[in-house]
Amino acid sequence: MKPEFHNEFTYKNFLEHGKDSEFDALFDAAVSNARRTFGAKHPMFINGKEVYAQELITERSPIDGTVIGLFQKGTREHARQAIHAAATAFDSWKNTDYAERAALFRKVAEIFSKKKFEIGAVLSYENGKSRYESIGEVDEAIDFLHYYANELEINKGYSRKTSQARSTVKVDAGFQGAPSLKGEKVTIAMKPLGVFGVIAPFNFPVSISVGMSTGAMITGNTVVFKPSSSDSMTMLTGLKIYECFKEAGIPQGVFNYVSGPGSEVGDEMVVSRDVAGIAFTGSRSVGVGMITKAYSAGLQKKFIVEMGGKNPVVVSRSSDIDLAVSGISSAAFGFCGQKCSAVSRVYVHESIKELFISKLVDNMRNLNIGNPLVKGIYLGPLISQNALKTYTEAVEKAKGSGRVLYGGNKVDTGLNGAYVEPTLIEVRSDHELVKKELFVPILIVQGFKDFSDALRQANDTEYGLTAGLYSKKGAEIKEFINKIQAGTVYINRETSATTGAIVGLHTFVGWKGSSVGGKGSGSKFYLQQFMREQSISLTK
Ligand code: NAP
Repeated sequence: MKPEFHNEFTYKNFLEHGKDSEFDALFDAAVSNARRTFGAKHPMFINGKEVYAQELITERSPIDGTVIGLFQKGTREHARQAIHAAATAFDSWKNTDYAERAALFRKVAEIFSKKKFEIGAVLSYENGKSRYESIGEVDEAIDFLHYYANELEINKGYSRKTSQARSTVKVDAGFQGAPSLKGEKVTIAMKPLGVFGVIAPFNFPVSISVGMSTGAMITGNTVVFKPSSSDSMTMLTGLKIYECFKEAGIPQGVFNYVSGPGSEVGDEMVVSRDVAGIAFTGSRSVGVGMITKAYSAGLQKKFIVEMGGKNPVVVSRSSDIDLAVSGISSAAFGFCGQKCSAVSRVYVHESIKELFISKLVDNMRNLNIGNPLVKGIYLGPLISQNALKTYTEAVEKAKGSGRVLYGGNKVDTGLNGAYVEPTLIEVRSDHELVKKELFVPILIVQGFKDFSDALRQANDTEYGLTAGLYSKKGAEIKEFINKIQAGTVYINRETSATTGAIVGLHTFVGWKGSSVGGKGSGSKFYLQQFMREQSISLTK
């Protein structure tokens, strides 16, 4: 029987049963519980054993500077130990039956489901997400676990049998593809590669880490996992992920947790001959840098690399402006613009531009800024002082050679964090701010007269992650679909113009400089990337 997939949708389920206050109570209790555990010292886990480094990293919350925990500053040597453990574990893990692996990952999903408020609360503290964003992210991790387990079963572990009947005549051996007198039985199977380095970003440290790690392990690879540990830090959620895998019974050495800087722990995985593949999500500069480094050293590793975006939305003269305003506001300013899928450029038809701007600014005025642990707060803090510097420098540049239409200021919330206003600017189309991914809540608006020209501008970027259109005209929709250079495209979407892909419904995939694989997460084609094909012909 085909396994059924259902999205987790926790908050929606509470709402549907009129229990939103219960949702809040559970989240608030989880925050209090999480706070009681903060400040502890945590080990790394290599081959199931606690491992300590010489130095520690202090992880602080971007919300108020609270010390979340003390984590090990892993080194190249720790990465090597973990690679060795993963390589050793690969020998037996690769031979486990696919159905057994699927069952194990469903168990991991159940554990995440039980712990969703605990993990969601830590996530909010760790990277400043609101309760809805955090629980939604844990839901997405659970979805990935179920979805990939289902895919593995639906595809019978990605193994197929073919055969050729005996030949009744002997064909000259020199004849290409000569059929055998005895016939052939062939198994064509997708097989795991070995050790995968899983290198995760700060902004979706639960769902993306779980998604990449599950993709690698459920297909028979073993993993050395490195959470974000430098400027932006998400090591505690990384540890929670380790605990869930362990509790489910993932064998020792199959999933190893090594905290430490990307330039050391991550780089060691990139240059190691014993690491068969890297699953990375992060910035384009780091992603391209690691591929270049490995290939120029003659290492032909498998790279599954998801990178940044500079995502456009086009608002046509025929659009429903209110729909466009709410979808764009949510896509630009949710989680403070720190989503790879966030819209950062909007092209609006000249005839409605002023109206659009005034409605959008009204919307922006109503976005509450402050402590994201408090219900009703929409914009929490930026992840770090470096992100604040990016924000203030961009605003200064916009003031110098363009216009700041709304926002542009730091906000004093009384908390020790980098709080800023959602910001709308207008700059020339060739301005550096139009080209560069900023990853802060700054939206650029530009007018257009001709729809095809708006599309040309939308495509004028090295990236190709998400894109949106608001239009009621069939011809425009058709042209947009035909020409837009992005992997994840939404038209007239009410909830968000460019963000919020749902596992099993959409695929989340980048084109051009946003990805190297061209295959999306939460989709039918994701798992195949972690394997290589082999044909075994057996003649008896
Ligand atoms: P980042 O700075 O590129 O870091 C990502 C990971 O790479 C971190 O774990 C980092 O470790 C590690 N790293 C840094 N230098 C490295 C090196 N030389 N070798 C190996 N690993 C290294 O990205 P971020 O700021 O965390 O995340 C934001 C970026 O991710 C944005 O560009 C965003 O668009 C992108 N993103 C893309 C997607 C997608 O699906 N396309 C999804 C989410 C985010 P340390 O932090 O410990 O140094």
